[in-house]
Amino acid sequence: MRLTERIHLIGSGRHGFGLTHPSDCHVYLIDGGTEAAIVDAGAGLGEDAILTLLDRTGVPRERVRHLFLTHAHADHAGGAAGLRAALGLTIHASSEVAAILRDGDERAASVDVGKAQGSYAPDYRYAATDVASELTDGQRIGVGDLVVEVVATPGHATGHLAYLVHGDGRSDLFTGDTLLYGGVIILQGTWDCELGAHIASLRRLASHPHDGLFPGHLTLSVTEGDRHAQTAVAALDRGVLPPNLI
Ligand SMILES: [Zn+2]
Repeated sequence: MRLTERIHLIGSGRHGFGLTHPSDCHVYLIDGGTEAAIVDAGAGLGEDAILTLLDRTGVPRERVRHLFLTHAHADHAGGAAGLRAALGLTIHASSEVAAILRDGDERAASVDVGKAQGSYAPDYRYAATDVASELTDGQRIGVGDLVVEVVATPGHATGHLAYLVHGDGRSDLFTGDTLLYGGVIILQGTWDCELGAHIASLRRLASHPHDGLFPGHLTLSVTEGDRHAQTAVAALDRGVLPPNLI
């Protein structure tokens, strides 16, 4: 599903548009011309459906070289191993997320909590994979003629990153689970959910001007994306928390 000249949606589960496996987050393809990148990988339970949607974009598989992960939760990173195997991707993530993925550490990724909630079947396995590129805040990675800027946004989960993609006179913000449409956030009873860090991350996102808001779940904004971060910060400025998804 084409969202802008450069951004396609190639995966989305039950907390989105129901295009691929119900457990998948939004999976985006960013087309930089000579090469392309995927943002987040889904849960790893329906990779064929994601690859089918990738093929429908018209971007040849061999041009897709990168996978940028926002965080280690299974609905975002569980599919990393499978997509890397299928496409030969370089995986980019924070050092915290890289460590979890290399070990396939289900507890660190809170897969145990997801199973207890019924979000994943008891026999779901969180696949380990290598992560070649450990990212730090402010780093810039070229993807064809686009530039991906790393914005560290811990709080929802350890090592969470957002990505600001610059090109064609636009800046588009991929927020993972840090900020959803309408200023909604996701605070959970997981070991690494930290409210103070989350509040600081919301203010950081609001300080980066952006056109599109492309979050990990629910709907999205192709234009005027800034207003969602501003809504969240306006709540913080009133001394209350933005609405929580869960
Ligand atoms: Zn998450």
